[in-house]
Amino acid sequence: EVDRLSQLEKLQVLGHGNGGTVYKVRDKQTLAVYALKIMHGNTISPQELAILRQTSSSHVVHCHQIFENPSGEVQILMEYMDGGTLDTYRKSHGRLSEDVIADISRQVLKGFVYMCSKNIVHRDIKPSNLLINEKMEVKIADFGVSKIMGHGLNRCSTSVGTCAYMSPERFDTERYGDYDGYAADVWGFGVTMMELYMGYYPFLSPGEKPDWPTLMLAICFGEPPSLPSCSSEKFKDFIKCCLQKDPNKRWTASQLLLHPFVEENSSTVVF
Ligand code: ADP
Ligand code: MG
Repeated sequence: EVDRLSQLEKLQVLGHGNGGTVYKVRDKQTLAVYALKIMHGNTISPQELAILRQTSSSHVVHCHQIFENPSGEVQILMEYMDGGTLDTYRKSHGRLSEDVIADISRQVLKGFVYMCSKNIVHRDIKPSNLLINEKMEVKIADFGVSKIMGHGLNRCSTSVGTCAYMSPERFDTERYGDYDGYAADVWGFGVTMMELYMGYYPFLSPGEKPDWPTLMLAICFGEPPSLPSCSSEKFKDFIKCCLQKDPNKRWTASQLLLHPFVEENSSTVVF
């Protein structure tokens, strides 16, 4: 582990966000490379830090250390994901095949099952919050608006996350009533997997600029988007299970892991 921050040299900026700036850094002694997220004062969510401190899964970006200094600056030392986000990955590699999407889905869903076991709802699942490395490992990142459920908190506030990937129940709380919040992550996941396959955000035509009020109405009152006819029946059905508008009918991550589209060794007969 790293003793002092001064041991780290900044190599380049990896990304800017609401939370702060993320740098690629190198330990001058061991030459190990990491990602370092630097956040200032009020941009840090205590829940994000709590979640980073207690998660350890091969499907969640690993946090090595957290440095807090008296001025309120927090620096998070994470494992470096050299393939970047699934958003930039798709833009540089083009549309992803069904096989690759099935493999990515399996990893993200296992991450969701792990998060459920820790009572964590991510609330901002989208291509730019899923990171990939050269081993084709995909990991969940950015717990900036996440929540730990329980202790009287059994539903999620509607006001966080990224509009385009929000589930119908997050906009229309009256119709769908109480729900546990985990289902909203499955919705964002379904939209994300469609986008990786189609090459564009599925609620709009390619290149179309979002008009937010219209888009929200489409998510709440329209039919959920479906895959083009050239895709396999298994994949179409998988997306349908993810994009059930009623959160009570939407499949859970554990159920989806048994779906024929992602089920492991489904074509292997073991004697
Ligand atoms: P924000 O809350 O600001 O969106 P993120 O944690 O999503 O913060 O990080 C912002 C960007 O930094 C990401 O979209 C990604 O491009 C880059 N990034 C973050 N963490 C890593 C990492 N561990 N490895 C590589 N790039 C990263
Ligand atoms: Mg982010």
